[in-house]
Amino acid sequence: MGKIKYRYNPKTCKYEPWYLRGKALQDQIAIFITLSLVLGGIFYFGYSKNFDSLDEQILKKKNLTLKVEWQILEERVQAAYAELNTLIDRDDKNYRVILDSSPLSPEIRQSGVGGSEKFNTEDIKDYPSVMSGYANLEKLKHTVDVEVQSYKELNSILKERVSMWASRPAIQPINNKQLERLHMSYGSRFHPIFKRYMDHKGLDFAADNGTPVYATGDGKVIMVYFSASYGNVIYLEHGHGYETRYAHLSRFAVKEGDVIKRGHVIGYVGSTGNSVSAHLHYEVLFQGSHVNPINFFQRDLNNKEYERLIEAGSIDAKVLD
Ligand SMILES: [Zn+2]
Repeated sequence: MGKIKYRYNPKTCKYEPWYLRGKALQDQIAIFITLSLVLGGIFYFGYSKNFDSLDEQILKKKNLTLKVEWQILEERVQAAYAELNTLIDRDDKNYRVILDSSPLSPEIRQSGVGGSEKFNTEDIKDYPSVMSGYANLEKLKHTVDVEVQSYKELNSILKERVSMWASRPAIQPINNKQLERLHMSYGSRFHPIFKRYMDHKGLDFAADNGTPVYATGDGKVIMVYFSASYGNVIYLEHGHGYETRYAHLSRFAVKEGDVIKRGHVIGYVGSTGNSVSAHLHYEVLFQGSHVNPINFFQRDLNNKEYERLIEAGSIDAKVLD
């Protein structure tokens, strides 16, 4: 039960129980509601001024996280740039120099930088840090694309060069470590059988019958046959314009169509055809024309040995074919 209020009644000179009724009750309720609203308003105003709403607190937290993540992203972009610049440097200053290829021009590296059409920069134009971050990323992406293309190009140049180096007739066709086997130089000389001056379009290596003869570069056997002048002869096709011929062999170690590597034994020294004693007659052709094979032997000789070989080849020794 509620507390009972008493009021003094002057008529009866007594305190009597008093109950709120009618207008008094209405006035009391109105005052209570008004006071509650005023106090509630004051509290709400004070609270909202000094404390964020829950939504605002969540948004602020998210915003802070995004700022930190953005910072990390910017740092990663810078780190990626540093790595990429190292690759570009190696590309221009090492790989292209080794492969005898020109560095990419700055115009090619710059072309196409300027933004993607897929992304509407209107949406972010009011946020300079986002705009600059976006521009940095676009530039990075373009630079990576150009560099990937450049490395692909380098790879194909390298493959071509490796194949060319392997095909080049770069070693001597028989074991000639002592450099004593080269007998006849390239050019005009008196032919011992035809008794007249004739062009000698190869080099002669004097060696015992049966001495192994090596392919001087990677290639394919295109002809293996006997000719009256060359005797048993092998023609090798090396690609890149090179062809070699090995004549007066005693026997063959390959057949037509065989694919061979530099250093493979393809036959053995003999004295078949127009030959006065056992030797190998060796020719090199470039794009269909004879060239002096001695120009290709640097690979298995040092400078001194090479000089000695040229000297040995220039001495007019006994003519063999
Ligand atoms: Zn010869």
